[in-house]
Order: sequence, then structure tokens, then C-alpha cells
Amino acid sequence: MIRPTSVALAIASVGLALTTVVVVPDRVADHTDTVLVSAPVVPARVLTPKAKPLAGIRIALDPGHQLGNHNFPKQINRPVPAGGFKKPCNTTGTATNSGYPEATVNFAIATLVKARLEALGATVLLTRSSNSQKLWGPCVNKRGEFGAKVDARLTVSLHADGAPASDHGFHVIAPTRRKPWTTDIATASLRLAKALRSGLDGVGLARSNYIGGGTALDVRSDLGTLNMSDVPVAMIEIGNMRNAADARRMKAAKGRVLYANAVVAGIRTYLNR
Ligand SMILES: [Zn+2]
Repeated sequence: MIRPTSVALAIASVGLALTTVVVVPDRVADHTDTVLVSAPVVPARVLTPKAKPLAGIRIALDPGHQLGNHNFPKQINRPVPAGGFKKPCNTTGTATNSGYPEATVNFAIATLVKARLEALGATVLLTRSSNSQKLWGPCVNKRGEFGAKVDARLTVSLHADGAPASDHGFHVIAPTRRKPWTTDIATASLRLAKALRSGLDGVGLARSNYIGGGTALDVRSDLGTLNMSDVPVAMIEIGNMRNAADARRMKAAKGRVLYANAVVAGIRTYLNR
């Protein structure tokens, strides 16, 4: 049934694929028989890389404070909108008893989390891209607004607490339903907080013995970073910097990896990916 002319045309059009078939309507049947049936399409599918689990997802991370905040008291004490009231732009953050700063721990863990999320295909955006004595901020309102500004699905704010030395363990904070500020994100934010808790539980970290009555969950109305967010948001206090064992873990490379893996697991649980 294939005439010599159509065989020649078929051979000539092998490299031109379907486009050629479309522009030569009276040859469609012949081309279908001779070209497409024999086309080895399977190897091409095998070589197609599998989509990464977080491909296409944008995630905001907020490493709390900035190392240089204490060098800029005027700037960081300036009142900013915090959700129906004003609060200082930022604070210096806490430190271990030996003076190791919270800003540095927060930034180190955020950097590890970012790398892990990116390896899973996510796009990760940080509220601050460096940890420097020469810098301050951003202010809490900007941190809160950041997630929506960069079109993120969620924001995780990373902090470490400063409490009496016998207090230890992590807790996660979600915003209260605060009209009109957080009514749109309160439910999802609590779900995010619980997912993050499951991640922290999952790597074997101890829950707070001083916040949340064993639940390691807190819901607060006074935090600008949470109130000003328009995407689901939760803040993690990874532990108590004034507690010797918590501080040791925060300063150790291995401990930070543990925290980072926990945060990534929590985010994946929230996203169901
Ligand atoms: Zn903090």
C-alpha cells in the first residue's frame, strides 16, 4: 500500500516528526504507518528525570534577629506596625551563657534548611541573606510581610529562646486568630506549627518543659512576625540557649543538622510532599 513516492517522503520526514505529518494531509496514513509505529519512544521516557518532591514550591525562611542589631539601637528600637499595635523594629535576640548569639544559630540553621529544601526542588527565600555585625533588621513587620511579597506558600521563622537554665526543649508558636490580621491564616498556621512539631518530635528532640504544658505548642497574639504575615506562618524556638545541653546542641554542627532535618521534615509534612 505504500507507493515509492510516499516511502521516500516518509524517510525524508523522519527527522521532522509530527509537524511534517500535519502539513501533508494526504500522506497522514502512510506516515503514521511507517514512521510513528516504529519510533522508539520508551528510552526517552526512561531518561526523563522524575520531578523533585518540592518542585515549584516557594518557601520563606526567617532567621530571627541580625548579628549587628545591638550596634544599631536607634534603628532597631523604632516602633513599627505589629498587627494593630506597634512594637520595636527588632531585638538583639538572646545568647548562650558564654555569649554565643542567637542570630548566628538562627542563620546557620536557616542556611542548612535552605540547602535541603532546594535539593528537594523548592525555591527558598530568606528574610536576611547574611549574618553580620555591620547589619541590622529587617524589622518584624517586614519579616511578617515577606512571605506574601515573595509569593511563598508558607513562612517558617527560626529562633532560639532565652529562659532560666533549667528550662529546655523546643516549642512552636502559631498566631492567634486576630481580626483582621490573622483570620485568613490562623487555621493553616496552626496546622503548620503542628507539622513542624512532628518534624522536631521525629528526630528525637525533647519538647519544651516550660511552654505548652507538654504540647510544645504556643499560640500568641503579640508577635509582629506572625501577625503581619499573609501566608501560613509559624515560629520555632528550637530550644533554650541558657540551658547547657540545648546550647551545646545549637553550637555543634551535628546538632544543627538535626534541627535542620526536623524543620525540613515538618515542612514536607505540612505540604504533604
Ligand atoms: Zn529570637
